[in-house]
Amino acid sequence: MKDKSVQFVCTQCGRAESKWLGRCPDCGSWNSFEEELILPKQTKPGKTAQISLETKPVSLEDIQVEPGFRYESGISELDRVLGGGVMRGSSILLGGEPGIGKSTLMLQMIEKCSLKRSVLYVSGEESPSQVKLRAQRLGLKLSKISIFCDTRVEVLVNVLEKMKPQVLVIDSLQTLSSSEVASPAGSVNQIRFCSTELVGIAKQLGISLFLVGHVTKEGVLAGPKVIEHLVDTVLYFDQVGSGVRLIRAAKNRFGSVDEIGIFHMGEKGLTAVTNPSSFFITDREGESAPPGIAYTAVVEGSRTFLVEIQALTVPSKNGFSRVYSDRIDTARVTRIAAILERHAQVRLNDQDIYVNVAGGMRLSEVSIDLPLALALWSALKGVSLPSSLVSYGEMSLAGEVRTVGFAEKREKASSELGFKRVLLPKSNKSKADLKVYPVDTIKKALGVCSTLT
Ligand SMILES: [Zn+2]
Repeated sequence: MKDKSVQFVCTQCGRAESKWLGRCPDCGSWNSFEEELILPKQTKPGKTAQISLETKPVSLEDIQVEPGFRYESGISELDRVLGGGVMRGSSILLGGEPGIGKSTLMLQMIEKCSLKRSVLYVSGEESPSQVKLRAQRLGLKLSKISIFCDTRVEVLVNVLEKMKPQVLVIDSLQTLSSSEVASPAGSVNQIRFCSTELVGIAKQLGISLFLVGHVTKEGVLAGPKVIEHLVDTVLYFDQVGSGVRLIRAAKNRFGSVDEIGIFHMGEKGLTAVTNPSSFFITDREGESAPPGIAYTAVVEGSRTFLVEIQALTVPSKNGFSRVYSDRIDTARVTRIAAILERHAQVRLNDQDIYVNVAGGMRLSEVSIDLPLALALWSALKGVSLPSSLVSYGEMSLAGEVRTVGFAEKREKASSELGFKRVLLPKSNKSKADLKVYPVDTIKKALGVCSTLT
């Protein structure tokens, strides 16, 4: 008989299976499956029925929204991705690679929070004196903050019930342990059990809970993925380029997941990049950019950025073309290359193609099709596009250039940054004071570009 109370969980992506697998079919990790006990449901039988007899639906009009339910963390970029601030009683998971700056961000946040709220910082990674040294290095005043270095959940719950802090940071969730679970700290069992306990008590006591989780490529520790479903908000901290950090929400019960937070990492910690529209483009002198470079405007949440797409083509050595691109999906690059080849007679099938985005921003918007095509064309032909030209547009497999959203935002940002000309889908109406080149096919777009170079 198979024991039904255990399952196997991938420590990297959280996939559950009834039997152990050597390789995860979802994320492709090897030896990442770990045995997990299925915890019995805590509710007693009959309780659900009892509750449903007593509770009644209420009119939405009668519901009072408590003031102060959402408050500012003091870090504007963090508030932005959280959807306008921290919710009371909510749980937030902050994941990222070790050393990326998660603890720094948390310390900077609790310094601000502690001005108005009681804060408890639980450190399982560093001793109190190490935390203090780190805070001093960052120039932070943490005098109002309580620090606790015991990561046994039973002890912690006891402390929380007595102290009732308004903000709780657990750094990191991989150091938590409970005596009720036999497996070591950092295992799927421990992480799931301890997180469930803490999320529950945070909700009950109205504590805003921040759980810091390391994402490790080696898979020594179970990743934050295994508890994503337990928390209200999941944020991932990512490094782009040198010194630039992005925070994105992968899940947000209290806001959208479109917003990104941008920070610059320096000696004194993280500073918010409040006006990032020009952050991802290189300042260039002169009329034209080097061959292979095209500018575009992308919209992320409420903000618009100008970014620079770079392409390089070199004759392939072994006769077939390969695509190297980690900031734009390789499949998209291949598709655009095929469209260029078929509809604009741009021969790329004997070329190795390299694509990059200045500043390391990852791009996935459909509007980058056209600038990507222009960059590839410019790289292959060795001709420069004007440095005052910005473009955007989605491309169909039939070689048409199609309408994109937020045209006004894109034009406004482009014009503010000194761009003079815009190549855009014919179906997009233009209002800005830029010189406009409307096109409906890739062939026409390249025709316009030829006259501009
Ligand atoms: Zn997996």
